[in-house]
Amino acid sequence: MTEIPLQQHIAPSGEQMTVRDLASCPPPERWHDWVEYDAKAWPRKVERHYEIIPTVCFNCEAACGLLAYIDKETGRVKRFEGNPYHPGSRGRNCAKGPATINQVNDPERILYPLKRVGKRGEGKWVRTTWDEVLDTFASKIRAAIVEGRRDEVMYHVGRPGHDGYMERVLGAWGVDGHNSHTNVCSSSARFGYHIWCGIDRPSPDHANARFILLISSHLETGHYFNPQAQRIIEGKMKGAKLAVMDPRLSNTASMADYWLPTWPGSEAAVLLAMARVILVEKLYNREYLRRWVNWQEFLAASLPVPQTGFPNVEQTFDCFVELLIDLYDEYTPAFAAKESGLSEEIIVDIARQIGHAGTAFAAHTWRAATAGNLGGWQVSRALWFLSVLTGSIGTPGGTAPNAWNKFVPAPFRKPSPTEVWNELLFPPEYPLANYEMSILLPYFLREGRGKLAAYFTRVYNPVWTNPDGTSWIEALTNEQQIELHAALTPVWSETAWYADYVLPMGMGSERHDLMSQETHAARWIGFRQPVLRVYKERHGEPVTFTYQANPGEIWEEDEFWIELSWRIDPDGSLGIRTYFESPYHPGQKLTIEEYYRWMFENSVPGLSAAAAKENLTPLEYMRTYGAFEIPQEQAPVYTLNERELKAAELEGALVDERTGRIARNGTTIGVMIDGKACEGFPTPSRKLELYSSTLKDWGWPEYAIPGYTRSHVHRSAINHERGEYLLLPTFRLPTLIHTRSGNAKWLYEISNANPVWIHPGDAERIGVETGDLVRITTEIGYYVNRAWVTEGIRPGIVACSHHLGRWRLETGLGTDRWASALVSLGRDRDGIWRMRHVEGIRPFESDDPDSSRIFWREGGVHQNLTFAVHPDPVSGMHCWHQKVRAEPAHAGDRYGDVSVDTGKAYQVYQDWLAMSRPQRNRPDGLRRPLWMIRPYRPATSAFKRTS
Ligand code: SF4
Repeated sequence: MTEIPLQQHIAPSGEQMTVRDLASCPPPERWHDWVEYDAKAWPRKVERHYEIIPTVCFNCEAACGLLAYIDKETGRVKRFEGNPYHPGSRGRNCAKGPATINQVNDPERILYPLKRVGKRGEGKWVRTTWDEVLDTFASKIRAAIVEGRRDEVMYHVGRPGHDGYMERVLGAWGVDGHNSHTNVCSSSARFGYHIWCGIDRPSPDHANARFILLISSHLETGHYFNPQAQRIIEGKMKGAKLAVMDPRLSNTASMADYWLPTWPGSEAAVLLAMARVILVEKLYNREYLRRWVNWQEFLAASLPVPQTGFPNVEQTFDCFVELLIDLYDEYTPAFAAKESGLSEEIIVDIARQIGHAGTAFAAHTWRAATAGNLGGWQVSRALWFLSVLTGSIGTPGGTAPNAWNKFVPAPFRKPSPTEVWNELLFPPEYPLANYEMSILLPYFLREGRGKLAAYFTRVYNPVWTNPDGTSWIEALTNEQQIELHAALTPVWSETAWYADYVLPMGMGSERHDLMSQETHAARWIGFRQPVLRVYKERHGEPVTFTYQANPGEIWEEDEFWIELSWRIDPDGSLGIRTYFESPYHPGQKLTIEEYYRWMFENSVPGLSAAAAKENLTPLEYMRTYGAFEIPQEQAPVYTLNERELKAAELEGALVDERTGRIARNGTTIGVMIDGKACEGFPTPSRKLELYSSTLKDWGWPEYAIPGYTRSHVHRSAINHERGEYLLLPTFRLPTLIHTRSGNAKWLYEISNANPVWIHPGDAERIGVETGDLVRITTEIGYYVNRAWVTEGIRPGIVACSHHLGRWRLETGLGTDRWASALVSLGRDRDGIWRMRHVEGIRPFESDDPDSSRIFWREGGVHQNLTFAVHPDPVSGMHCWHQKVRAEPAHAGDRYGDVSVDTGKAYQVYQDWLAMSRPQRNRPDGLRRPLWMIRPYRPATSAFKRTS
C-alpha cells in the first residue's frame, strides 16, 4: 500500500491546522473507502475496507476530534483515531479518545431502559420501554409546570458535552432547574477570573508564549489535557520557559523548567509577591494598566479596614502605582517563601521572567489550588493580576478570556427566560456563588427548603463523585424529597443504583452535540455525530431516531428531550412545543438533523462559504469533516476589548463623563479609552476590575482588591507530630475519566490503583513502607488504602487520586466489573455507614475474551465518601483539601474499608454554612448582582426578591 502524503491544510488562524508532525493519516478524499491490510491476517495481505466518519470525543471536556473507522464488511466501528482536520486536537488524542471503542463494545453496558421494581437502592430492575419512561416523566413535569412548581424540576449535569442545548430545553419549559457538578470542580477558579473581567475561564495562547505559568497539573490530567498540552510543548520548542506550581510532581511538572511545590493554599501569597516584584522593579506594562484597569474607581473608593480610603492620594496613575506597592507591601518574597516553602530567590527569579515575557506571558489554573482551598478563588484572581500587570490579556502568547476563543452558534427560536428563581440552586447564603450550590442539595432537601418532583442526573454520579456521598444516598432513597429520579447515563454508576429509571445514553460516537472549547487562539466548532446512523443514511438506509442505529435501544439525549417536550405539551397550549417544532416545516416535530442544519446554515460565520467551495451544504460539510474553524476576519480572537464600537451601536448611547462608561437603553455597552469608544470587558466598569465594588457591596469589603486568604489547611493548622497531614485529593491519573472509565478496559489496564502518596520522611515518621496499608482519618470517617512512598510529593502532604475505588453492590449488576469491587455498604446499628470489599476485581466470562484476562485485583479505594462538604463562603466551591490523620492500618482494617458518620457530616456542613454572609435584605432587593453570569439565567425580574 502506498503511503498518502498529507495535505497541508492551513487553518485560518495561520496555524497548520492538522498535519504538523503527523507521520500519516488518511486524506479526506479517501475517507469513503479507506483500505488497509488486516494486521491479524499477516503475513497474508488481506485488504479491509473502511468508511471513515468524524465525530468528537466525549471522554473529557476538551472535545477532540475522532475518526470512526467503520468496517464495510461488518458495518461496525473497528476503531477510533484522531481527526487531523479538527483545529483543537489536530489528529492527536490522549489514551481516552481511542478507548471509546471499549465503551461502545463493553459487554456490561446498559442497552435498554431499566425501571426499578424493588425499593430504591435494592437493585431490582426490569426492562421497560422508552414510551413508558417518556409518559411517566411528561406527566410529572407537566403537573409541576401547570401547578406553578417550576422549581421542582431539576436537571443535574456532570459532563455536559454540548453547548447550550439543555439551557434551551429548560428555558422552553420555563423552569429554573439547571444544576451542575461545577462546585466540586471549577467554580472557585471561575470566580477569580470572573470578578476581574466578567468572563470566567482562561484561554492561554501557549504556543506563542515566552513564559508559561501553570498552577496545577490539570492540563495534563484532565482539563484540555491534550489540545493545550501539545501547545505547551510547541511553546517550549520555540523557547518558552515553563513553571508549574503543584505540591505533587505531576507529569506536567516533570516537563517543566521549574517545579514549584508550594504548600497548598499559599499560591496566592506567592503570586502577589511576584506581582509586587513586577511593580517595584517597574516591569509592568504601564500603558496597559493605565488604559484598562479601573484604577480611577479604586482611588475614588473608600476601602474598609485595613485600607482606610485614600483621601490624601492624588488621583493620578503614578499615585495609583505607588499606592499599589504600599498596599502589597507585606507580600515580600520572604513572606511568600515562609508561607509556601519555596525559596525567595526562585520567587523573584520567576517574577522577573514573567515581567520580561510581557505580553507573551501565558498562565492557567483550573482545579488544583483553586479547588482545594478556602479562598481558592484568590489564586486565580492573583494569577490574572500577573496577566494584567504584564498586559498579556488576549495578546499573542498571552491569556485571553475564554469567550474570545470559543464560538457557540445560536439555535433557532430562543425561549424567553423564566421568571422563577430556585433557591435550592442559588440560596441566599451564597449570593456570589459562581455556580449552583450543588453539593448542598442533600442538606437543603433534608432541611425542607424544597423538594424535587422530577430529577434527572445526567452523566453525573454524586454518590461517588461528591463529598459525603452517603448523605446523597440518604437523599436519593427518600421518596418525599425526590419523587422521581432518572439517571441518564452511558454507563452504570453508583448513583444510578438509587434511581427509579436508568436510561442508557450514547457514547461519543452515538449522539449529536455541538462543542467549542478554548484550546488555543482561535474559534472552532466540533460536531459530535452518531457515526453508524450517518453510515446507514449514506448507504440508503433511512433512520428516524438515532437509537435505531445504536446498539440495543440507546437513545441520544437531544432526541429524548424533543420527545419529552412534545409529551409535556402535546397540544402546544403551554407554549413549550413551539420550540421543538421544525424551523423548516412549521407545526411538525423538529428532527435532530434540522436542529443542527439550521445552526450551520444561519449561525456559523464562514461555514456556508467554506462548504460551497466544496459543493457541500453546511450540514454536509460538518458531517464530512466534523469540525470548522471560523476565519479570524469574521471572528477575531485577540484584544477584543479594544474593538471600537460602531456608529450603529453608539446610536442613542450616553457617556458618563466621570467613569467613561457608555450606556444605551440602560445597559453598559462599552467604555471611553483615550477618546475611543471601546467594547471593553463585560464588567460593571467595562474595565479590568482590580477593585471590585461587587465584593465590597455584597458583604466582602475586605476582598475588594486581590488578596491572600489563609486556607483552612494552612501550615500552622497541621501538626505532623500528632500524625496530622494535609490530604490532597484533587488530582487524577491522566488515563482515567470520571465515572465513564468504568467501561474502558484499556484504561483500567493502565491505571487501576490509587495509593496514598507519602514522602519518604513522612513515611518513616508514620512507620509505613510502599504497599503497607494506611488509615486516613478525616473529620467524618476514614478509609484504608495502600501507601506509596515517593519523593514526588512535598513533605507534610499525602495525596490520593480521586478516579478509582469504584464499587458495586451485586455480583452481576451495577458498576462494570472491569472497574469495581463488590462491596457491602450500609449503616451499622450505631448509625455509621461502613463499606467493606467482599471481593476485588476478578476476571469474568463475557463476549469479550479480554474479560477473562483481567489481572488487576484491587481497583483502588474510594475516598470521597469520607469527606465532609466545605463550601467556600464566597465562591461556593467545595474546598477539597483537608487535614487528616495518617497512620498504619489498625488491626482488622482491610484494603478498601470506608467508614462515615453522616451526623458529623451535617455538623461540618453547618459550620461552613455559618461562614457565609447571606444578603437577604438588600435595599435593591437583588438576590445576586445582575452583571454576574449564571449558567442558566432567569429573567431580570427573578433576580429581585418579592418577599
Ligand atoms: S483530551 Fe479529552 S477529548 Fe481529547 S482525546 Fe483525551 S479524553 Fe478525548
